[in-house]
Parts: sequence; C-alpha cells; structure tokens
Amino acid sequence: MTKERMDGVTQLLMRQQPELLERFQRTIQEKRLVHAYLFEGARGTGKEELARWIAQTLFCEELQDGQACGHCNHCLRIAAGGFPDVAEISPDGNTIKVNQVRELKAELSKSGMEGSRKVYLIYDAEKMTVSASNSLLTFLEEPQNDTYLILMTTAKENILPTIRSRCQIVHFQVVNKQALGETLEAQGIQHENAALLAAITNNQEEALLLNQEERFHESKKRTWAWFQLMTDKNPQAFVFVQTDLMDGLKDKNDGYFFLDLLLFYYRDLLYTKYSNKQAIVNKNHGKEYERIAEKLHPQEITRHMENILNGKKHLEANVQLQGVLEEIALGNSL
Ligand SMILES: [Zn+2]
Repeated sequence: MTKERMDGVTQLLMRQQPELLERFQRTIQEKRLVHAYLFEGARGTGKEELARWIAQTLFCEELQDGQACGHCNHCLRIAAGGFPDVAEISPDGNTIKVNQVRELKAELSKSGMEGSRKVYLIYDAEKMTVSASNSLLTFLEEPQNDTYLILMTTAKENILPTIRSRCQIVHFQVVNKQALGETLEAQGIQHENAALLAAITNNQEEALLLNQEERFHESKKRTWAWFQLMTDKNPQAFVFVQTDLMDGLKDKNDGYFFLDLLLFYYRDLLYTKYSNKQAIVNKNHGKEYERIAEKLHPQEITRHMENILNGKKHLEANVQLQGVLEEIALGNSL
C-alpha cells in the first residue's frame, strides 16, 4: 500500500503496532479470524484503533490490497461508531451491566442469518459485572458463523478466567519512547520538545496535539523559571507558586503534567553532574545546567527529586495542588 493511500488510522497503527497490523492483515486475507479476541495492553497502545480497523476491513466497500480504504461510506460510519453491523459496548457508569450484554445478544439473534456478518467491540471489558460476564460466556461457548467479538482491556487479570480462556489473547506492547521521539523529530518537532512529548504521551497523535497547545509551551517556560529559582535556593520560589504557577494549572492532571516536566529538568541536571551529556534532553539549557551543577551536590539534586515524587503522591492522595507545590518549593529552596 502506498503512503498516500493510507488513512490516518492505518498510519498510526503502522507506527505503533506494525507487527500486529501485519499479522491481522494476513489473518483476514487468509480468512483465519477467530470468533473472540481479547486485546490487552496499556492505554494509548492502539487497541481501539486496531479493533476498528479490523471491523472496517471486514465491511469496507473499496478494499485496497485487502485492507480497509478508510474513506468509503462503511469505513467512515464504522470510524464514527454508527454502523449497524458493528456494535460497541462501553461501561454504563462504572460497569458493563448484564442488560447491555443481553441487548447485544438479542440483536445478534434477530439478525443472525446466514451470511450476515457482525462485529462486537467491548471496551474496558474488565468492567463487566459477573452476571454480564456469564451472559457473554454463553455466546463465547456457541459462536455463530461470521460473528466476531473483540474485547479490550488495560487489566486482563480482572477478567474472569472462563472468559479469558475462550478468547485469543493479543498483547499490545507499550510504545518505544525513543522511537516515538525520533518519529516526532522526523515530523519537524525540535529535539528537546520531541523527547519531552514522547515521555509524557503514548502516541504520536496525542504528542502532536499537545505540541500545538499553548499550554505545553507555556508550562515549559514556567517550569524552567521555577526550577531555576529552586536550584538557586531563592526564597521567591515559594511566592512564585501563587503569582506565576497556579494561574496556568487547572486541575490535578495539570499538576502531574507540570511535575513531570519539572522532573525532566532535574534529571538533566543529574546527567550534567555525572557528565553524561548525551542523555541530556534539553540541550539548549546546557550552560545553565553546568552553572547549577557546580553549586549542588548530587545528594541535593536527588533530594529535590524525591520531594517532587512525594508531591506527586500527595496529589494522588487529594492534597490541594497549591499546597503540594508550596511544599516542594519550601523543601527544595532550603
Ligand atoms: Zn472502506
């Protein structure tokens, strides 16, 4: 398939899960698709994309070399979640309830005629209640012709063993961060940004979007200024939280994001201290790192990093963001 003809989803899969994409291309071409799969792996590893791609490839009106075109009416409707023969179930509230599975099975028996192909996608499958799982089990025990079920999960250990054992399990590996960084650089993103974005996201789309956001670049600037104050042991670091930081941080997630950025600068500082220049991410700050590294002992740098990691734990325990940041400022500017 030439690059121009590939749609966005296929491109994403090519980069994230090239082996799995190739494996399923072959499986579909050779008509060896089994009735039930369990896709498991971390968030952002391409499970949903591959599941939809399989559905598209089974229904595409303009297959190209045996693969979904991504542009025909069927492909577009499947991508938007509005194609009648591809049913999707995701948690209703916190769980997938038995009614949801029953509805799915009822629909199946209604249209379960010879030659009518059906695909079922179940997201967050670990959230099925026990009764929902048992209801699904009867389907797995007597699969109908031309019916395919794809369960997706980030926690396969939370899925009943009886379900797991009836599915073919497909593991989605976490994206190689270095490869992701290199891909981002090839797309014209500066080296330092590419490395940061690769570290804090799991896929290229997410990274590219973040790179376009003012928030990312603004956070970087503020983090760097705060880092300089703390490593210079400037008491202003404490006040800076209220005057300059809180404004740009809306919630807990922003807080994690911000502290991860901060840790990056400390890691670079540690690399500078140990003369591991190659590992430094923000090379444009090289001179400044050297200046700071001369004043701080390695133990001090690691103590600062521990304070930040503790701050992340406190955030998790629902301590207010401003309090967490002030605590870090106090601890690190002593
Ligand atoms: Zn198509």
